[in-house]
Amino acid sequence: MSERYQAILLFGAPGAGKGTQGLLLGNIPGFFHMSTGDMFRTLDHHSEVGQLFDQYSSRGELVPDEVTIKMWREYVHAQTVLSLYKSHSDLLCLDGIPRTVAQTQAMNEYIDVRGIIHLVASNPEEMVTRLQKRAIEQKRVDDAKIEVIRNRLNIYERETRPVLDQFDPSLIHEVNAIGTPAEVLGGILRVLAPIQAAAHSTVPN
Ligand code: AMP
Repeated sequence: MSERYQAILLFGAPGAGKGTQGLLLGNIPGFFHMSTGDMFRTLDHHSEVGQLFDQYSSRGELVPDEVTIKMWREYVHAQTVLSLYKSHSDLLCLDGIPRTVAQTQAMNEYIDVRGIIHLVASNPEEMVTRLQKRAIEQKRVDDAKIEVIRNRLNIYERETRPVLDQFDPSLIHEVNAIGTPAEVLGGILRVLAPIQAAAHSTVPN
């Protein structure tokens, strides 16, 4: 591939609000939201990869890196071909990927990370409450059991948080995850608006 996709990462523990904020951002012209959790959830549950996803996610575990990267590449390609994601003018907002150091290294070939929004909650118990509420609202099996939630949070600390060390600290922007969706979005846009403007000035419209 000749050019890397200009991307921003929505980063944070499960329950920090990446999905909610990603959906809001995706409604703003020039941002394209892509969630790997959504990508996996839309798979046919009878397919091989759909069954693999069910196996891992029901335990709160991550899908193996190789499968994830392959699926993600095909997914981005499909959105590009369908002209849903216009790589020359949209900032790709990645929600839920990369989630391991190996994924970060594999994706380096495909994405140029312009900024990282690290959604931070001062009280981690708030995350657990949010996940339980969402499990009921969205019938998500991965968040229905407290032990699965704890496992997701442990895996985040062990596998995902080290992803941040792979990037120049100047790219990482901490945003308060506690507040109304509009308040949190305000914090995110204060960071992203200048990044988007700079990205657009370096790519042809
Ligand atoms: P999420 O909605 O982002 O919490 O993702 C739900 C589930 O999808 C996770 O618990 C994983 O099983 C799987 N998943 C999503 N993104 C990734 C990823 N980047 N790497 C591995 N597994 C993932």
